[in-house]
Amino acid sequence: MVEVGTIIAFIFGLVFGSFLNVVIYRYDQWLSILKDRSACTHCKQQLRWYDLVPLLSYVTLGGKCRYCRKPISWQYPVVELSAAALIVVFYNRIFESGIFTLPLGVLAFIGAIVAVGAMIVIFFHDLYEQMVPDLMAYILLVGTVLFSVVYYDSLLNTALGLLVGVAPIALIVYPSKGKWMGEGDVKIAAALGALVGYPNAFVFLVSTFLVGGLFGSLAIASKQAKLKTAIPFVPFMIVGALIAFFWGDQLVTWYLGLIGIPTYVIGS
Ligand SMILES: [Zn+2]
Repeated sequence: MVEVGTIIAFIFGLVFGSFLNVVIYRYDQWLSILKDRSACTHCKQQLRWYDLVPLLSYVTLGGKCRYCRKPISWQYPVVELSAAALIVVFYNRIFESGIFTLPLGVLAFIGAIVAVGAMIVIFFHDLYEQMVPDLMAYILLVGTVLFSVVYYDSLLNTALGLLVGVAPIALIVYPSKGKWMGEGDVKIAAALGALVGYPNAFVFLVSTFLVGGLFGSLAIASKQAKLKTAIPFVPFMIVGALIAFFWGDQLVTWYLGLIGIPTYVIGS
């Protein structure tokens, strides 16, 4: 049986995702977000409320604009579904553990919602523009730190996660004067390190470079990229952080077992 709270979290996530789509699409004119109604990017037709129902409109319209039949970007359903899935998973992590009193649980959940929103917007912004808006990086940092401080209930854990996450990225960025990665990457690494905590921040770094390396090799092998092509790095960090958050404990235990160190040594 799916619990009522989970269904509400899912629906909230879909609606939140459709708001994020507007933010991604119109970030540079974001003050107008609340004023303007949405319009088709091809025919500029103003969309009605029934064209804007998250996920359902996309599915019932077969992925095409009702008015001009041009395809609607895949970004819309993907963002809506990712937001819904992540909100549900964070909701369950926070409220199913039963260890939080309601006010604390709500506080952690607000942090998680802010973090999920910022992660999704940053993911697509970096993908399209190869840069991260400063404001978004700071919003992510505020969301992940708020979540982390409540969820792990240890300032030391949050601080260590943040430091382990940011140190290697800063060591790459500053000596190279931003040639390989930018300062935006440093802020995001700090925020994601706080999100996953310690010792999972190590898993975050390893998964980021594994996923990035794998993707880069595939892109070069399929001739989609050359060695010098700028590949946006932030999406890999976000994927790496999610891997670390959801499976970090298992991966740390498995790895330490493999090299023969019991987990209590590092206080996991
Ligand atoms: Zn249209």
